[in-house]
Amino acid sequence: MDVVTGSEKLRGAVAMDGPAGTGKSTVSRRLAQAGGAAYLDTGAMYRAVTLAVLRAGLGADAPEADVVAVARAVRLQSGTDPAAPSIELDGEDVESQIRGAPVTRLVSAVSAVPAVRAQLVERQRELVADALANSGGAVVEGRDIGSVVLPEASLKVYLTASPEVRAARRAAQDRKAGRPTDLDAVLADVRRRDELDSTRATSPLHAATDAVVLDTDDLSVDAVLEKLLALAHERGLLT
Ligand code: C5P
Repeated sequence: MDVVTGSEKLRGAVAMDGPAGTGKSTVSRRLAQAGGAAYLDTGAMYRAVTLAVLRAGLGADAPEADVVAVARAVRLQSGTDPAAPSIELDGEDVESQIRGAPVTRLVSAVSAVPAVRAQLVERQRELVADALANSGGAVVEGRDIGSVVLPEASLKVYLTASPEVRAARRAAQDRKAGRPTDLDAVLADVRRRDELDSTRATSPLHAATDAVVLDTDDLSVDAVLEKLLALAHERGLLT
């Protein structure tokens, strides 16, 4: 299905949560485009802070205070245009660097640090408030959007899929982007991040009690998007 941009208007905030490889980014961007809304990738923000941590010479065993100091010192700029999402770290476009293996390996550890989360959650709420003021609607994707960042979101969706299906999707994305790919390694990484993200003490990954849970194992991107559009219509958010 081809979505015609701008024919309908999405109002309010849509929270899109779920683990890696569920197709969240693709469908979130397309939903935002379909409704002329802003799009915010909160994972990119955690990834950019992680890149800064790596550049500071810190790793998984770094003292928490050092990681927090790096997070406090960086200047993040998140673009919210769903047609061209962007992230800048101290003025440098780091969109492609944040997707590489070193950042992916470390990001769950960095995002488990409570003071890092507190700082980014505050920034995310500001960005969403600006986006709602400017374009009326925002699709925000992450792990804790419906549960923590935007508990009052107009629609909360939690996408799931089996680890095998998610790893296959991630590997295909990596291949397409020209990054080295090893399906077993991707599956191991998906399982490791699921474990870390869902067992951390602060804002663990889980579906908000009022989220609509969609299992995407047997659903194409278009089929997921159709369900999201139907939900948004049902709730009167898309007119
Ligand atoms: O969505 P993406 O895979 O880019 O997210 C990277 C990592 O950032 C996740 O594995 C998770 O550790 C962290 N994250 C988070 N909270 C969010 C978004 C991402 O903890 N709202």
